[in-house]
Amino acid sequence: MNASAPPVRRSPTHTAHVIMAGDLTPRMRRVTIRSDSLVGLVPRPAQDVELWLRDDSGRRVKRRYTIRQARPDLGELDLDVLLHGDGPGSAWGAAAAPGDAVEFQGPRGKLHLSSAAWHLLAGDESALPAITALCEALPPHEPAVAVIEVRDRADELTLPATAQVRWVHRASSDPGGPELLAAVLRELSLPPGAGHGYLMGETRAMVTLRSVLEARGIAHEAIFVKGYWNLGRPDRIAGRAPDRG
Ligand SMILES: Cc1cc2nc3c(=O)[nH]c(=O)nc-3n(C[C@H](O)[C@H](O)[C@H](O)COP(=O)(O)OP(=O)(O)OC[C@H]3O[C@@H](n4cnc5c(N)ncnc54)[C@H](O)[C@@H]3O)c2cc1C
Repeated sequence: MNASAPPVRRSPTHTAHVIMAGDLTPRMRRVTIRSDSLVGLVPRPAQDVELWLRDDSGRRVKRRYTIRQARPDLGELDLDVLLHGDGPGSAWGAAAAPGDAVEFQGPRGKLHLSSAAWHLLAGDESALPAITALCEALPPHEPAVAVIEVRDRADELTLPATAQVRWVHRASSDPGGPELLAAVLRELSLPPGAGHGYLMGETRAMVTLRSVLEARGIAHEAIFVKGYWNLGRPDRIAGRAPDRG
């Protein structure tokens, strides 16, 4: 290793316990975790944690979940987990119960909110916790417009009253395509001035939507794009997490 190379900065590792778990909607479960090591930790809006879980065969896997809310005085984090199938993340969210131990790294995530005339946030239901947290964090004089694709009305959650929200129902269509969001983003009326864009959801769909936002006049460098999942393939297998049995 080059002695002059800057050190690799890894987010800290924590062991926490589930203290509460309950349904927010039929497909979204809030899991609250607590650890003494989280006391005093104040994450930025929409930062996430990387949980170390096990897949069906017992292999270690990592899955990322947004910190929907943090209570630094109590060392608590709320994670809102979409129950989309039987992958290790979904399965963990569905079964989480008070007393369960969970290891994770975080907080992590590169998004820094900066000032703009308005903010356009778009994504699918996996980004609902992030979009809501960002809308809550924005100052009232910087309007937020959120466009969120969900399966149906039962997936909808309450966002801050200051945000203008457009729900897009895909009904029986498959998740993970850009078309439904693109159609709305192309005709949406936007406030005057220079805005920032945020795209969070299925990776290829979000990359496709970047050009739609650019066509709406949002500067390339003012658009944050983050792939949250990959259509047709599980999230990557963890190699770094230590084996703790
Ligand atoms: C920074 C970041 C923050 C995130 N925050 C959240 C969050 O707060 N809440 C949340 O629920 N998710 C969040 N995600 C997305 C979540 O990590 C992925 O959806 C992850 O793949 C779920 O793992 P799994 O084990 O359930 O499914 P996997 O084992 O990864 O995948 C199994 C199958 O399910 C499909 N799949 C994966 N995710 C979805 C989905 N969302 N909808 C439909 N099909 C899917 C895959 O294509 C694959 O075919 C976040 C991701 C990132 C990168």
